[in-house]
Amino acid sequence: MSNQCPFCQLMQQPEQLNIIGETENFYAWLEYPQPRAKGHANIVPKEHIESVMDFTPSQWKEAMTLLREVMEKATEGLGAEGVSVAMNVEEAGGQMLPHAYIQLFPRFGEDDNAGTPVGAIFQHRDDLQTQEYFEETVKEMNSVTVNFEQEVKEPHPDSQKFKEDPEPPEDDVSEDEEESESRSKKRGTSIQWK
Ligand SMILES: [Zn+2]
Repeated sequence: MSNQCPFCQLMQQPEQLNIIGETENFYAWLEYPQPRAKGHANIVPKEHIESVMDFTPSQWKEAMTLLREVMEKATEGLGAEGVSVAMNVEEAGGQMLPHAYIQLFPRFGEDDNAGTPVGAIFQHRDDLQTQEYFEETVKEMNSVTVNFEQEVKEPHPDSQKFKEDPEPPEDDVSEDEEESESRSKKRGTSIQWK
C-alpha cells in the first residue's frame, strides 16, 4: 500500500471503479479517465505490487485467468472482433505508474488502427539479421537460470491427502514393471535404425 500510488488510492473506494471482473487478489476495471478503445481495461493487483515481474506464480495464474475472462467479455459482450494485450514493464517499457497493470484493448474492424499489432511501435531492424546476432543473443539469454516456478508455498491439503493414500499392492507394481519391460523390449526389436 502506497499513499502516493494512484491505483492504491482508487482502490480505497472500489465503488468508483467500473469493475468488469474480480478475483481474490485482482480487479479488472475499465480504464478511466483516458480509455483508448471501447472496453479498454486494466487488470490490477489489489495489493501494491510495483511490477508484474514481482507477481508470484500463483498471482500470474490468477491474473491470466482474469484476463481470459475479460477477453471473453470483450468479444461476447461488446462484439470485439479481436483483442490486444499489453504489459508495460518499468519506465523504459512504458509503465506509467508504480503499480503493476496489464492492459486489454478490444479491437474492432471499423477502428482506424484495426489490424495494426501492438508490436508495430518497433521498426524492423536490418542490423539484427546476422547469424552472429542470433547466436550471441541466444547464448546471452540462455545463460540465465530462471527459478521462478520454484515458489515456496504451503502444500494444498488435497495433495497431502493423496500422499497418505496407501501404496498399491506390491503385486500390481511388479506386474506393471514386467508389462512395461516387455513393451520396451518389443519396441526395441521393432525399431530398425538402418
Ligand atoms: Zn499501488
